[in-house]
Amino acid sequence: MREIFELRDGDGAGRIGELTVPRAGVTVETPALLPVINPHIRTIEPATLESTFGAEILITNGYILYQSDEFRERALSEGLADLYDFSGAIMTDSGSFQLSEYGEISVTNAEILEFQRDIGADIGTPIDIPTPPDTARERAETELETTQSRLEAAESIDVGEMLLNAPIQGSTHPELRTEAARHAYGTELDVFPIGAVVPLMNGYRYAEMIEVVRAAKRGLGADAPVHLFGAGHPMMFALAVAAGCDLFDSAAYALYARDGRYLTVAGTDHLEDLDYFPCSCPVCAEHTPETLRGRPERRREELLARHNLHVSYRELRTVKQAIREGNLFELVERRARSHPAMVDGYRALLDDAETLERHDPVSKGTFFHLSAESARRPEVLRYHDRLERLSVAGDRVLLSAGENNSRFDETWRLRPPFGPVPPALSDSYPLTAERPERLDRAAYEAAAAGVSRLVEANPSVEFALAHWRWPDAALSALPEEIGVRRLGEEQ
Ligand SMILES: [Zn+2]
Repeated sequence: MREIFELRDGDGAGRIGELTVPRAGVTVETPALLPVINPHIRTIEPATLESTFGAEILITNGYILYQSDEFRERALSEGLADLYDFSGAIMTDSGSFQLSEYGEISVTNAEILEFQRDIGADIGTPIDIPTPPDTARERAETELETTQSRLEAAESIDVGEMLLNAPIQGSTHPELRTEAARHAYGTELDVFPIGAVVPLMNGYRYAEMIEVVRAAKRGLGADAPVHLFGAGHPMMFALAVAAGCDLFDSAAYALYARDGRYLTVAGTDHLEDLDYFPCSCPVCAEHTPETLRGRPERRREELLARHNLHVSYRELRTVKQAIREGNLFELVERRARSHPAMVDGYRALLDDAETLERHDPVSKGTFFHLSAESARRPEVLRYHDRLERLSVAGDRVLLSAGENNSRFDETWRLRPPFGPVPPALSDSYPLTAERPERLDRAAYEAAAAGVSRLVEANPSVEFALAHWRWPDAALSALPEEIGVRRLGEEQ
């Protein structure tokens, strides 16, 4: 058991946790956002991140500090906390990014780890090899071996109280990601960044991003804090949290601002194109897009960065509240509607409803059936499994969308997408679901699958089904032995 990470609440594979960072003497609530601080360009001062945005943790590049004539000695003599005037936790990166960009760096794994320790980093990182998506399997494997040996080497270095990242690589090969995660989890390292996924996010390849996360999660225990490395766009926070990610870092807030881009939970807008701000953060309340465009460049960039941070932190609070209320799937569903690629991401998440089901609480708020995807949620899967174990009273049972019928020993309600519901469970979660009157076909088909499970598990019972306007696709999926009647028709 990793004692630094404690889980408080969960929904799907999403969770609220507490990450204890001993060297900083702080506990960080997750899901958490780590704004990226570039020591040379402090778009927003770390002290402001703390006081205005409530930042509990940030990330900066240890390799940039190591190489900097301006900051290296100061970082060593003052320590990061004083250099940045920040009292929360500070994570440092190792130069892996520079390695992947420029092909070489002028420091060894041991040197950069000791440097991170010496400047007072609270969570340090060994030099891993970030293998990009779509890399041939052989190269991905070779690079992963190097990454794994760097993690093992990191174990033997005395880093004091500094926690260590154990990056998980493996490109877009799910089995390599799982193997990498299993190996990383088996080391004594503490935090698990899933690396080299930025090209997937930039390319709107959200389904593959979720597949990479799912593959990594398969190799990790539930007590492993997971960092989706380089993920800073608020539009995918809810989706990534629902897949089990706990930490995000944002360079996006500053990089996008420099480029005149305005983040929202539905995507990215250009300040140039906006007539209205769809936000009421302090920046958007005090400006119109026109007045903001009129500000001097440096000031405009800072204000845009502030908006980008406000929307990012607000989204993480929204995600946490959804976990508390047990409606994270409903939030993911809403966010997924913002872009077809997000729909793909949501569908990729639901492809693994079985794993989600293992973590999902038994009882939550009201289940909202919002689309065909809702029929694939883990709650539906769990109820279908449960149908096999429910006891059936009597020899003749009616499954009905309408009234009870005294000619049967018992009447169960038909409730798509779940299927048949016995009287004793009609008030239990998730069977109290709110559903639209005009249900999608997927809901009826899921209900038919539920009927099949019940009928198969009770071969000696005679079932009849009275439906209301079920589509043919659902009716043809029913077991042959069941008597089917449409309500309102003569018997
Ligand atoms: Zn705003």
